[in-house]
Amino acid sequence: MDQIKIGKFIASCRKEQGMTQAVLAEKLGISDRAVSKWETAKSLPDAGIMLELCELLNINVNELLSGEKIMTEAYNKKAEENLLAMRQEVDEKNRQLLKLEVLISVPAIIAGLILAAVAAFLEISTGLRIGLMVFAVAMIITIAFIAIGIEQKAGYYECQKCFDRHIPTYWQTNLAPHIGRTRYMKCPACGKWSYQKKVLTKENEKEA
Ligand SMILES: [Zn+2]
Repeated sequence: MDQIKIGKFIASCRKEQGMTQAVLAEKLGISDRAVSKWETAKSLPDAGIMLELCELLNINVNELLSGEKIMTEAYNKKAEENLLAMRQEVDEKNRQLLKLEVLISVPAIIAGLILAAVAAFLEISTGLRIGLMVFAVAMIITIAFIAIGIEQKAGYYECQKCFDRHIPTYWQTNLAPHIGRTRYMKCPACGKWSYQKKVLTKENEKEA
């Protein structure tokens, strides 16, 4: 143990807490000469007083004996919090994207179907009827392509064989048979085919 380092550390923590040697000594029920002796590295605080001293200095015993603040714990916690916040942001963005997929595709498909129905039943020339039909179908297909593009980018697909989570290519997604957002695709990790589920996060909670 580095007594000089500890002494300086006690002094700096005491000042940080806005206490004079006398005030700290009074709170601990000891003489201010004792505090002065710690700070000038002439002695170390008794084990019996250490916990109380640490509490007053807002440090832990480990830090007192190291003569410095130990940041590891706080640092890790902060890093973890930052990571979590980042993940939540990505999740939220993906959730919004998937909502957008529904918001643009459902009205477009309904509009397309109405247009097709109008074209079928209206008293119009055959040319115009075919034109409207083609337009309606083209609109539905275009929107479907855009929607699949959004879906492919938002989140991941999870293989049902090895539970690997990955982003397939646009065309792999587009050409895959699907039920809702669950798509029958080949897994890049294990190479098996399965109905892959849409998931928002990369990490698999089942494994974690
Ligand atoms: Zn797999």
